[in-house]
Amino acid sequence: MKDVTYNGLTFEPYITEDKIAARVAELGKQIADDCAGKCPLFVCVLTGAFPFASDLFRAVDGDAEIVFIRLKSYEGTSSTGAVKEVLGLHEDITGRTVIVVEDIIDTGHTMHNLVAHLGSLGPADIKIATLLFKPHALKRPVKPDYVGFEIPNKFIIGYGLDIDGKARNLRDIYVLKDEQ
Ligand code: IMP
Ligand code: MG
Repeated sequence: MKDVTYNGLTFEPYITEDKIAARVAELGKQIADDCAGKCPLFVCVLTGAFPFASDLFRAVDGDAEIVFIRLKSYEGTSSTGAVKEVLGLHEDITGRTVIVVEDIIDTGHTMHNLVAHLGSLGPADIKIATLLFKPHALKRPVKPDYVGFEIPNKFIIGYGLDIDGKARNLRDIYVLKDEQ
């Protein structure tokens, strides 16, 4: 597999499509077991999580539903990723088992705020599924229930993850090369 270049930066292959598929299948089975008889509601956080959510949702054998939301973060000075608004959640989640699906948890600000918001809407349970987790970057108390891969604190693209909107369509995951 070859390196790829975006914005003048070089990225090298990191997690292959096959490895992702195998891990997603495992997570799907785990969720199906944990949520047997509960019809979990998957909440896919757009845009980055859409390939993962699509594959994970279809890896679950049993009743399940999916909805899509988009988060609006504070702009400008804030680098905290604080969630200002949750767009597109029109479903009543009262009493539901909710599985929030994210592409990556970095500092955890986004997920922490989102879970607090969803928690105020009266679900029975909220679980977090993330394809990638950077435990060393975590700044908020977020504990994902389903993790595809724990990774070091490096910049990742592909399979939904972007650099300035690009690279989401790469089938494999790539990591920014050191020494650039
Ligand atoms: P957090 O609030 O710091 O956990 O950031 C989560 C969001 O930052 C993710 O949903 C991504 O959109 C973005 N992000 C964090 N790390 C990366 C990365 O390595 N590549 C691409 N996007 C990332
Ligand atoms: Mg995101």
